[in-house]
Amino acid sequence: MAVWDDLVGQDRVIEQLAAAARDADALVTAAGPDASAAPEAAGASRMTHAWLFTGPPGSGRATAARAFAAALQCVSPDRATGGPGCGFCDGCHTSLVGTHADVEIVRTDLLSIGVKETRDLVRRAQLSPAGGRWQVIVLEDADRLTEGAGNVLLKAVEEPAPRTVWLLCAPSLEDVLPTIRSRCRSLTLRTPPTAAVADILVRRDGIEPELAVRSARATQGHIGRARRLATDERARARRAAVLKMPLRVADMGGCLKAAQELIDAAAEDAKQVAEEVDTKETEELRAALGAAAGTGGRLPRGTAGAMKELQDRQKRRATRTQRDSLDLALTDLTGFYRDVLAIQLGSRVELANDDARDALERVARGSGPEATLRRIEAITACRQALDRNVAPLLAVEAMAVALRAG
Ligand SMILES: [Zn+2]
Repeated sequence: MAVWDDLVGQDRVIEQLAAAARDADALVTAAGPDASAAPEAAGASRMTHAWLFTGPPGSGRATAARAFAAALQCVSPDRATGGPGCGFCDGCHTSLVGTHADVEIVRTDLLSIGVKETRDLVRRAQLSPAGGRWQVIVLEDADRLTEGAGNVLLKAVEEPAPRTVWLLCAPSLEDVLPTIRSRCRSLTLRTPPTAAVADILVRRDGIEPELAVRSARATQGHIGRARRLATDERARARRAAVLKMPLRVADMGGCLKAAQELIDAAAEDAKQVAEEVDTKETEELRAALGAAAGTGGRLPRGTAGAMKELQDRQKRRATRTQRDSLDLALTDLTGFYRDVLAIQLGSRVELANDDARDALERVARGSGPEATLRRIEAITACRQALDRNVAPLLAVEAMAVALRAG
């Protein structure tokens, strides 16, 4: 069925969601046109008010949640036979593209979601659905809720309005407050096989098959990253630079230089995002606050706070972008040494970085498996240091030096 088509390699999850959507549809039909009425469950329903989608990054948590939202809003006359989620009717289509009045998709480019934003959402969740079916709220980064925000959300999840459905997404169950996850039905997505990822890149994005396979393999089943690698030349150049790092850490000077370059590249990414979004956002806010057009336009009295709030937000976003970019580089680097280890152990697994075969072989010949394991640990330690807010350059330098010793 069409709304599930973008979910790669998740047959079991699709089965469960399709069954729940069928029961949800039966509930709405039985309740009749009064959208404020609590749908009466006839027997055991596979539908429930709160869901938690977990799975490794790139497995398609948000895609699954959105597909389910669409299926809940499906109004196709054929849904009684084919099941809801045709993908073509107005309900499905507007849900998938994010314009359905009763589907709120919350995604953040910040490090955390605070109490204020969550209160707004909870208020919204109290509304009856305008279209008479379900009020669906998709929280794509439930792992970013602050503890305070989590407690605000908890009340809403505990006593949901009769037609409200919460769809929370997070990397793992541990990323969500225990009190919240115990009230959600949980679904776990798996890392899709690389062949399935390559297939969807070809089918949906029109990417040339060889490049699709290479991108899917390089990113080990992470759909979003595979797509980016296949379509964005800059991402490919960035990855190639990261994979050269293991050959450049032969001496102390090389280590420090490589570390500085990783940090600079992450800062460059943040700068690019800022250039794309910040100026426009600032101009829009100035206009909304009633500033006179042009550079000399002064802001009306009492609006400086709103401008300051935007600037803080932009700063937090820059931090997050830098962190994500650095994290991506470390992921690629870990993948490199995993391949080295596979070669050293003579294992027959598919290499993620087959396109960097020469470098892999050289590093594999020049060291033993123990050294490789130690290097992988050094990258993990760097990640943990970054999580603890150690200064990025310091953490990456320490890692680069550890990559050398061996
Ligand atoms: Zn539909």
